[in-house]
Amino acid sequence: MRIPIAAGNWKMNKTVAEASAYAEALLQELDTPGVEVIICPPFTSLYALSQKFAGSSVKLGAQNMHWELKGAFTGEISGSMLLELGCEYVILGHSERRHIFRETAEEVGKKVETALKLGLRPILCVGETLEERERGETEAILAYQLEKGIEGITTFPNVESIVIAYEPVWAIGTGKAATPQDAQEAIAFVRGKLSEQFGSEKAQQIRILYGGSVSPENVGQFVNQEDIDGTLVGGASLDAGKFLDIIKETARISGGI
Ligand code: PEP
Repeated sequence: MRIPIAAGNWKMNKTVAEASAYAEALLQELDTPGVEVIICPPFTSLYALSQKFAGSSVKLGAQNMHWELKGAFTGEISGSMLLELGCEYVILGHSERRHIFRETAEEVGKKVETALKLGLRPILCVGETLEERERGETEAILAYQLEKGIEGITTFPNVESIVIAYEPVWAIGTGKAATPQDAQEAIAFVRGKLSEQFGSEKAQQIRILYGGSVSPENVGQFVNQEDIDGTLVGGASLDAGKFLDIIKETARISGGI
């Protein structure tokens, strides 16, 4: 049984004071044991939130890391630093990293390998642009990003702790979510590829999320799909009330399991 996830990616939003106030509001209302809740704030709020979430079920994730553990990489953060701050997860290969900061699929793969080696759980994001979808290249892009993303971990014993997020680039921050059917189709394709790499037993254990303009109103339709194990939420996760509604709806649809 795959436990559903509601993960919030705050991107470059919220000061430490704002993050702390949000955490208090979230914890006051959170009562959904069947859903794994993950908050991914900017690096600057990780320590404060690790203190706030201590003793609660809310997990902490970072939004990026470097593949090396230390060295002359000005402005970068290592996986071991994230672990020390209480992170259990790290988002890797988000489309904003790939497209704005020109991260390559190979670099994302190196990060995934380092994260898993350290015991940090990667949330590996994959997804096609609108042009790629219109050219009928969706599956080729997903296969390529996934292949490079998991290249270094194929023999790891803990591959099932990775989480994949299917996030079509055209749906991120646009208010134009994919249809649940299109998301299910893409995610079933990804699970098939995971099965080719890791075998069907492991592939059935790996959680695959949908991300792209998820809201309290549409989340149920995604979580209701056979292969979709939760959502990665940007904009709507910035409001504690909206994110709580997403968590509650995820619990309701998935039967609180
Ligand atoms: C994201 O940043 O991963 C995301 C899906 O953003 P939004 O929910 O705002 O589309």
